Amino acid sequence: MHVRGSFTADAAVFLGNDEIQILDMKKAKLRCLGCGDGLPCNDRKHASYLYTINEIDFLIDCGEPVCDTLQEAGYDFNSLDRIFISHMHSDHVGGFFMLMQGFWLEGRTKALPIHMPKDGIEPIVRMMEAGCLFEELFRFKPSYYALDSNTATEFGGVRVTPFNTTHLNGFKKSFQDKYKQSYEAFCFLIEGTNIRIGHSADIGAPEDLAPILAEPVDLLVCELAHCELEDLFDYLSDKPVDRIAFMHLGRSWWSHIGEVKSIAQRRLKDKQVTFLCDGMVLTI
Ligand SMILES: [Zn+2]
Ligand SMILES: [Zn+2]
Repeated sequence: MHVRGSFTADAAVFLGNDEIQILDMKKAKLRCLGCGDGLPCNDRKHASYLYTINEIDFLIDCGEPVCDTLQEAGYDFNSLDRIFISHMHSDHVGGFFMLMQGFWLEGRTKALPIHMPKDGIEPIVRMMEAGCLFEELFRFKPSYYALDSNTATEFGGVRVTPFNTTHLNGFKKSFQDKYKQSYEAFCFLIEGTNIRIGHSADIGAPEDLAPILAEPVDLLVCELAHCELEDLFDYLSDKPVDRIAFMHLGRSWWSHIGEVKSIAQRRLKDKQVTFLCDGMVLTI
């Protein structure tokens, strides 16, 4: 199954589907630019999600080939207001440099705040310099901010609050003596006027979602690669969320999507469940 990225509702119709409900009252929009997992994918791009709330556009994660996907969709590179990078795994940050090069060469002028784990900032800035992506060339000003768990960033009527997850705890345990870093990964609570969305990014256990599900959310965008299916579905079954969009399915589950859907239907029968494809647009 190959789905080309598109920002039209056509992509949403691709699955045919009764899974997606497009409401007239458009408060927020999620455009799935890439819902692949960490393995090489021939039918999904890597993690990148474009949210529009209160006419503010922001990206969560910059997996490859986010720059080309935006270009292909005819997206105005000046429209993006902000970037959040959940953690430094390549499937979430691999498209960042080309995106910045694209912003330079396409003449972006708007300042660009970029939020990421604190240990990522210095190497990213050095890599920008190594790749001759000098700020003197840019007509826009990038600025880098360290994500801090439970500390919200507010911009244009939108509030994004990151929370630590245990996604990198295994790496930390095995490698922290040799590679000293914070091993931070974050999920996000996104709030706009009368809307709350949880975005898991990559987690280590279902309980990582507790802070973003402490109060009801209108939509949970949830990964499906790093927990046992049943554990995650059971955890979510009594949480205050009516609508769940699964993404980042591990390769084996993606290739058995029919089976995964029927398990989800059984375990999450009270929820409206969607499985994201690249190019899909959800309007909330
Ligand atoms: Zn990932
Ligand atoms: Zn990861």
